[in-house]
Amino acid sequence: MPSTIDRVLAEVDRAADEIVQFTADIVRIPTVNPPGDAYEPCAHAIGDVLARTGCEVEYVVAHGRPEHSARYPRVNVVGSRHGDGRGPTVHLTGHFDVVPAGDGWTVDPFGGLVRDGRIYGRGTCDMKAGIAAAVFASEALRRAGVRLPGTIEVSGTVDEESGGWAGVAWLAERGVIARDRTDYVIIPEPLDVDRICIGHRGVYWFELTTRGRIAHGSMPFLGVSAIDAMGRVLEAVRTELQPVLARRVTAMPVVPDRARHSTINVNGIDGGQPIDGIQTPCVADRCRAVFDRRFLIEEGFEPAKEEIAALIARALEGAGVTHELRDLMIVQPTRTPDGSPIIAALETAIQRILDRPARLCASPGTYDQKHVARIAGVEHCVAYGPGELVLAHQPDEYCRIDDLVNATKVIALAVLDLNGIGLR
Ligand SMILES: [Zn+2]
Repeated sequence: MPSTIDRVLAEVDRAADEIVQFTADIVRIPTVNPPGDAYEPCAHAIGDVLARTGCEVEYVVAHGRPEHSARYPRVNVVGSRHGDGRGPTVHLTGHFDVVPAGDGWTVDPFGGLVRDGRIYGRGTCDMKAGIAAAVFASEALRRAGVRLPGTIEVSGTVDEESGGWAGVAWLAERGVIARDRTDYVIIPEPLDVDRICIGHRGVYWFELTTRGRIAHGSMPFLGVSAIDAMGRVLEAVRTELQPVLARRVTAMPVVPDRARHSTINVNGIDGGQPIDGIQTPCVADRCRAVFDRRFLIEEGFEPAKEEIAALIARALEGAGVTHELRDLMIVQPTRTPDGSPIIAALETAIQRILDRPARLCASPGTYDQKHVARIAGVEHCVAYGPGELVLAHQPDEYCRIDDLVNATKVIALAVLDLNGIGLR
């Protein structure tokens, strides 16, 4: 008589082609964000499979969010299969929006090509394979005849790539994911199949505007160039701030290694007259730039912001411009508590399936864990899923099929473990 675990693993193996097919199917739906294309058909494609796998399915639309519109509806989908109430609720959540394809592809980014043990396409690893792993981890438990004491939920959400406010944040705000009803959350983001991600650094996006004085371009000495002033700031960031940030290092296991340090990046810059328009001889009286500062849990947000503000003020001293610093987005650093049962459950499952110890990591970027932790108040949340971190957002993005199948098994066993049907 095979054990429960053996039966579940056998069901995942039996479902391998279906898992691949489902991944390819949803990769073919071009849910590009921005602007948020094809969310509704993708939510329904996931919802249809969830319904076929015995889940109650609910569509949660972010009515009232500014990014929700008739043209680009923000539609999330949640499937639930209830236990008898004695066990925990485990929620598996993946985002189905993908970043634009970009250049450099040698295959159709939305073709869902399956070749040489890989599924190709924008969003395969980040993170439609992860959604497929979640759906089929849940389904393998059902097919194996496991009656979980707890509830399993699988959601597909929107807008993670642009902050997740109409996605996981919305589910958290509506109480779909909430401290009083959700015990554990696994986010199957691509972080390598043997790695459990316990959080991320903080994010501070800000916009800096410099304002000078317009003058005739033939006599620039009569004006004050806002672009030159921005140049001073960029120089100070490069020569003063970056060396300081590079020396700071977090105790969190952020990967890759160089992301254990604080960083800053210039997202974009815009100043003077539009360069595609008809040109006139004018000194630029306005320049704006958007910066992306990643800060460490040890640094904290306020000191990081004060440091920037002081640097800018110093750089602009005597430049004859005014300036304005505006916060665009603040994400606090997040960390799963040490000793969380969800880490232990995944560690045990990874050792069993991959025959090697799990590695703990933290993400260089942020992901939906921030909303789960901060809005829903569920601290027992990690990211674990198929796919390689370094392939996310790249041309010729792919997910290995063996990783996908293994991650499905790991997630299924972790859910079992959290329900007291464990390996330990
Ligand atoms: Zn992602």
